[in-house]
Amino acid sequence: MNHKNSFIFLIVLISFMSSNAQQQGDPKVTEVWTPVPKIVTPGVIPSDAPSDAIILFGGENLDEWVSKDGKSAAQWTVADNAFTVKKGTGTIQTKRSFTDYQLHIEWKIPSNITGSGQARGNSGIFLASTGPGDEGYELQVLDCYNNTTYVNGQTASIYKQAIPLANACKKPGEWQIYDIIWTAPRFNDDGTLKSPARVTAFHNGVLVQNNFELKGVTKYIGTPDYSKAHGATPIKLQDHGDPSEPISYRNIWLREL
Ligand code: MG
Repeated sequence: MNHKNSFIFLIVLISFMSSNAQQQGDPKVTEVWTPVPKIVTPGVIPSDAPSDAIILFGGENLDEWVSKDGKSAAQWTVADNAFTVKKGTGTIQTKRSFTDYQLHIEWKIPSNITGSGQARGNSGIFLASTGPGDEGYELQVLDCYNNTTYVNGQTASIYKQAIPLANACKKPGEWQIYDIIWTAPRFNDDGTLKSPARVTAFHNGVLVQNNFELKGVTKYIGTPDYSKAHGATPIKLQDHGDPSEPISYRNIWLREL
């Protein structure tokens, strides 16, 4: 063995010995014991609310919801374990306010849907909002099963900000599911943005938004911004007002994070 080869042999030997020492070291160094995750009893099927969920609609009434003025009773129609947008009565919102959460919500485009583009079963989930008259940050609800529209406004888009990673639409008449993880934006005391909102969403079990960082509130015209600071806010459901048949929602539950 010449000088060069014995040097290489020595390096290999040292690195072997040191990795061996790590493997034989204290395993506790890499163990994490706190915080202990809360034990939650899962539902029998994935759509069932887990034991620690807040039920926002269980099928019987809109007691957890109010009209967009934040006070009067929500006017949408409850029937058959679901409720349906009542056009012209306006967006509805939760009585409670939320910050970070996991949300499960089911929705259905009516089988007799008409219209095209954005005027075909348009509704939406405002994951948070900047105030009573404002709509906020919209995850789009729309029929995009054989319906073409701008992709950053199609089903499961963050409206005009994020194209969904897939089109997982079911046919009109079939119930569909959104499972959403929302991290609210944070603001400094002077109203400037501290950290933007983030969203992960599954549409019928398919990942459609992967930890997307929002650029601000949804805007139909113009670019999104964080010009209005806010804390915890209600979640809102959109009465879009287009002439197509109204859509329905059911089985809505939320886990605060
Ligand atoms: Mg919409």
